[in-house]
Amino acid sequence: MQIHLSFDYELFFGSESGTVDNCMIKPTTQLMDLAKKHNIPLIFFVDAGYLCQLKKHLSEPLCLIDFNKISTQLKQLVESGHEIALHVHPHWEDCKFENGKWVLNTERYKLGDFSESEVNQIITNYHQTLIDIIGKPCHSFRAGGWCVQPFSHIKKALMGNSIFRDSSVYFNGYHDSSAHSYDFKKAPDKSDWRFESDCCIEDFNGSFNEIAITSDKIDPVFYLELYFKMRSNPKVFKPIGDGNWLKDKKRIYKQFYSSTNHFACADGYFASRLISILKKQQRKNQNRMMVLSHPKSLAACSFGYLNMFISYAKNQKHTFTTLKT
Ligand SMILES: [Zn+2]
Repeated sequence: MQIHLSFDYELFFGSESGTVDNCMIKPTTQLMDLAKKHNIPLIFFVDAGYLCQLKKHLSEPLCLIDFNKISTQLKQLVESGHEIALHVHPHWEDCKFENGKWVLNTERYKLGDFSESEVNQIITNYHQTLIDIIGKPCHSFRAGGWCVQPFSHIKKALMGNSIFRDSSVYFNGYHDSSAHSYDFKKAPDKSDWRFESDCCIEDFNGSFNEIAITSDKIDPVFYLELYFKMRSNPKVFKPIGDGNWLKDKKRIYKQFYSSTNHFACADGYFASRLISILKKQQRKNQNRMMVLSHPKSLAACSFGYLNMFISYAKNQKHTFTTLKT
């Protein structure tokens, strides 16, 4: 099996965006050390809209410092053989930098909230900003907040940027809140497939490749355990990032009384589930496992669990790869 460890490299989008050091630089440096120890490549889906905004505000001292820190780290990631991919959070279009901090407006959170020509401009502009830093184009895409639908709305923009690989879908994923909206209930229960205009409908002759994020069904017991672990031992179980999530309270409560569709993830204590997800993928004879995590949401415990997971998977003769062709 090919295993892809992917990380959405970004700030938080709740009331506090957090700092670049704690949400991005420090946890990513730790990830690079772990990857080096095991000699494996990682994939970073970089929130390029944030980079565009930083670039617009380089006259602000903090923005200049943050832009330089991120640019340096992205170049290091490329030099170390990790893949940089395009992650698009279009709500950056409506954000402001005021009194030394980001004022986020997530009313238009999805690409579907913009016209097709705006989508084209956004994707092309964000992609170019990333190319200017890393010196080469990206070949893989992940929509911000999994909001990749309707795909027909963003298809042309991706084609125009020669991006034919998406990794936004997870089996049975569903979310309908004021910001998020996606429905992957009809997606194939497979690790990858080709498609044309609808990422959930397999089309053997399709132009695009979906590399699905591996799904995981989580019982309320896990969330209870997570809640108590974070309260009793925050140093080990609480995320390193110092901002807060864009919350959907209804969804959070639901996690405590019924099992929910999630995905393979190394964020915080979720990383403890990776070995059992891998075993399940093996039983299903799948040829890939795609893990989606965020540097901002990693906790001290995540690195220990990731270390164990990588060792276990390598022992089982699985390989860690990027999506680069
Ligand atoms: Zn994101």
